[in-house]
Amino acid sequence: MRGARGSKNLSCDVAIVGGGISGLYMADTLLSLHQERNVCLFEKENKLGGRILDHTFERLPDVPISLGAWRIDKGNAIVRQIMKRFEIDSTPLKIPKRADRLEARGVFATNQSSLQKQAFPLLSNVKLGPYKTVSYKNMAKYLLSKRETAPQYSSLSTFLQDHLTPEGLNFLTDLIAFPPYFAQEPNAETFFESLEKYKHFTRNFILPHKGVSALTDALKASVIKQKGKIYKDEEVKTIHEVGKNIYSLKTARFKVIAKKLVLAVPMKSMQKIHGSLAGKIKNNPIFKSIGYQVAYKMIALYEKAWWKHNSSTSWRLNDEQNCRSNSDCLGYTFPYKERGPNGEAILQAVYAKSHCAVKWGELLKISRKVTEQEIHKALKRLFPGIDIPKPLQSVHQYWENGFQHMQRAGTHISVSEVIDWAKRPFPQQEVFIVGEAYNLIRGWVEGALQSAKNALEEGWNMKISDMQPQRVDQTRVLENFYDLDLY
Ligand SMILES: Cc1cc2nc3c(=O)[nH]c(=O)nc-3n(C[C@H](O)[C@H](O)[C@H](O)COP(=O)(O)OP(=O)(O)OC[C@H]3O[C@@H](n4cnc5c(N)ncnc54)[C@H](O)[C@@H]3O)c2cc1C
Repeated sequence: MRGARGSKNLSCDVAIVGGGISGLYMADTLLSLHQERNVCLFEKENKLGGRILDHTFERLPDVPISLGAWRIDKGNAIVRQIMKRFEIDSTPLKIPKRADRLEARGVFATNQSSLQKQAFPLLSNVKLGPYKTVSYKNMAKYLLSKRETAPQYSSLSTFLQDHLTPEGLNFLTDLIAFPPYFAQEPNAETFFESLEKYKHFTRNFILPHKGVSALTDALKASVIKQKGKIYKDEEVKTIHEVGKNIYSLKTARFKVIAKKLVLAVPMKSMQKIHGSLAGKIKNNPIFKSIGYQVAYKMIALYEKAWWKHNSSTSWRLNDEQNCRSNSDCLGYTFPYKERGPNGEAILQAVYAKSHCAVKWGELLKISRKVTEQEIHKALKRLFPGIDIPKPLQSVHQYWENGFQHMQRAGTHISVSEVIDWAKRPFPQQEVFIVGEAYNLIRGWVEGALQSAKNALEEGWNMKISDMQPQRVDQTRVLENFYDLDLY
């Protein structure tokens, strides 16, 4: 039936906005556990998956290139459950437990202490309470002892500078390959959320053979099989409440009436949706306390693995090693170990965050050629003495709307408050907000799924017993926090 302005009328019991993993998982669980029959999912892009996005180069068609999520922790219980259910095979993802290719201020080092001595000599005079050396682990331990001071600071940046000195902050950010500016964006409490976040992490990472998108592909196929309705290329532009538990959504082609509503879009996307109900959400102080951080990836295919053949210095990058460098905003550089039929090799040249991501992303909007020239120059500085060839092909991804969320600087609303609110933002109403921002495990697929689990429990009273995340003992939690391989 056609509506007044030519749009088609659609009636759904549940309308899900957003076809990332949280939206797909909601649709699939509601259908497969027979909670709902008439489920409609709207996705603004012409593909599903959102921040789970893989690419393949023609010469290596079996090697998924992760432009978004790139690893699963074995402790990620809901992800593992999906993998088990859909028989998704995986391989261990080997990355070194210690970052051993570090660059800062033109100094190349194979361990933290050597980098500190050469590039941050001023830190040799700094004592962090009882700790005599400024290692990442000691910095983390010292900051933990200062936890109760966090609410006195407006941002993570001022908190870190006060406790570690500005030079300590620079060292820390170089170790994790986040540019120092990143710490101005979140509040200080954000640092301590990580401790909670990694409670269930084993730091044994795996990657599905077909990439992380094997998860969203399987969920999509399952939703379709169960007659769930998926509408791609259908951006939801307005959301109104038109009666008690009656919601009206508009896309370019549809006018939708739904009894229940699941919002599975990131914060920045939510801001673009209009209408009375969307407005109430956007004006809520809890929603306003959520911030986001941007990321940029550039992955390139080369004729040969040139990064392994640096005879002039010991500075080379073997398979399963990674390099961290902020000097030229490359961030986190590492090779894929697979090879093409003629030895072709893949390098994740750039994985930059915060203002470094903005640098590349904004340049890309102006010219891809110039961006690639600049990245090439930056790689030459990172691998001195190597004649770096031009890539055969490359792929860029700018996560302008955020790769992960955090609590904004200047706010003191905790993630737990955000989670409680999102479960049911309006009492008595059947509206649920899910996604990576609405859980402690922010920045991870598991977090997005955990928020969906909250909504299923809250709205449908579902108790799904085998979804409990595995517990990791307390010492391990601290070890996780003290190590660098979670960044
Ligand atoms: C660079 C990067 C690296 C990452 N690395 C990892 C990792 O290694 N391991 C890990 O577990 N996680 C990782 N993550 C995080 C993980 O990808 C996310 O937590 C997860 O995919 C988020 O899922 P979501 O459903 O919450 O949101 P999204 O995936 O963002 O899905 C939201 C969907 O809503 C759609 N949408 C937006 N607005 C509208 C609208 N108005 N109407 C209709 N549709 C709309 C979007 O197009 C999108 O498809 C990474 C993410 C990035 C970007």
